[in-house]
Amino acid sequence: MADLMDALTSLAKRRGIVFPSSEIYGGLRSSWDYGPLGVELKRNIRNAWWRTMVQLRDDIVGLEAAIMMSPRVWEASGHVAGFSDPLVECVNCHQRFRADHLPGFHAPQSGHEEDQSTVDMATKPRCPSCGNDRFTEPRSFNLMFKTYMGPVEEDAATVYLRPETAQGMFVDFQVVQQTNRLKIPFGIAQIGKSFRNEITPGNFIFRTREFEQMEMEYFVEPGADEEWFEYWVNQRLQWYVDLGVRKDNLRLRPHDPDELAHYAKAATDIEYEFPFGWSELEGIANRTDFDLRQHQQFSGQDLSYYDQENDRRYLPYVVEPAAGVDRALLVFLLDAYRVEEAPTGSGGTEKRTVLALHRELAPIKVAVLPLSRQESLVPEARRVHDLLRGKWMTKYDDAGSIGRRYRRQDEVGTPYCVTVDFDTLTDRQVTVRDRDQMTQDRLPIDSLVGYLRERLP
Ligand code: ATP
Repeated sequence: MADLMDALTSLAKRRGIVFPSSEIYGGLRSSWDYGPLGVELKRNIRNAWWRTMVQLRDDIVGLEAAIMMSPRVWEASGHVAGFSDPLVECVNCHQRFRADHLPGFHAPQSGHEEDQSTVDMATKPRCPSCGNDRFTEPRSFNLMFKTYMGPVEEDAATVYLRPETAQGMFVDFQVVQQTNRLKIPFGIAQIGKSFRNEITPGNFIFRTREFEQMEMEYFVEPGADEEWFEYWVNQRLQWYVDLGVRKDNLRLRPHDPDELAHYAKAATDIEYEFPFGWSELEGIANRTDFDLRQHQQFSGQDLSYYDQENDRRYLPYVVEPAAGVDRALLVFLLDAYRVEEAPTGSGGTEKRTVLALHRELAPIKVAVLPLSRQESLVPEARRVHDLLRGKWMTKYDDAGSIGRRYRRQDEVGTPYCVTVDFDTLTDRQVTVRDRDQMTQDRLPIDSLVGYLRERLP
């Protein structure tokens, strides 16, 4: 299974989907750049989420809040005081780790030194780097990136890079509600970058320090929160299934009461079976009225909602589905990656690598391939390409044998390849090859757009 991660990381690099950032300088640990195909895939993920969460709904609107917000926001939200992970250092190699991620680690009770000799050897945590079993005491490490605004580096000018997009929706709750005359229940959705100074980033783009979130805060009447929580857990799980992720690779994991975040009454993770084990893909939380109450107190502004029908005011409860764009992208790639035996033209078989991505997500929808580079074919092939490029993301490729070009498109998940050959010049027909079935349909150029419209988003 670990091989799958290596194979995918190498495909992503080889095809310019995702690769290490600033590599000419040796890279920057945990920073990744998305190349031409990666940006398309990422944009398709964002669009699919936006379509489901905003475009197709009457009750959810969008927002794009600033990354740098008033530092008071993070005091009110509890992030300044409490957004930290337990950090330990290996006393031998001095590498640092997030203690709760070390198998077998259990934090010593406050005021008591942990007696290592009483810990069962089988479960004793060991340094993933050197194997040593002695660590420093865990200390709280705040995950927020701090910077300065303006020319003076002093405390008064401290700002943070947001560690979640959610606070934008709370701080702007009232202005969005009033300017759009929204009635509860309603939601505010946002997609944008978040930053966390993670102690142990890793597993490719699974955990990075700069990442993108897709979050939606759904404001409901207190008392209706539990029902809406169930609703959103199911909706969000279904979203991944609808986009082709295999059900067996997904599961729901409700949080135990003692692992709940400080703001949450309930939380359930949608987990995926990654090559390194089951881990969180998306989290759904019942945040109660915690955030609005805190902002009301810290800002001194009344943030209550006026329920006109019942002539009463209240602070709404909030149900939040919070997903990561990069983490979802990793899941879509892992789940779509296949290596299969495929028939060759000469009657044998060969290995083909294919990304069986959902059509909505595929970075390129159609590739146009002239059978050869011969001059007589090029103008016709270019015309076919021009016919399609305004409607879908397309690629014109005339380099190498046709078999190799099919493989190149399979490897990045292109659902259709349209081949223009010498017969096209007389019969005005092209061949359309299907990525998954590998079947080939011959059809008139005049029917091509209609044919693809039936099959592509
Ligand atoms: P963890 O416990 O793994 O640190 P979390 O529970 O703190 O994660 P949330 O605050 O619930 O994560 O964030 C919502 C979503 O944002 C996650 O499910 C994940 O998809 C994404 N996400 C969070 N942190 C990162 C990160 N460091 N890198 C990439 N994606 C992230």
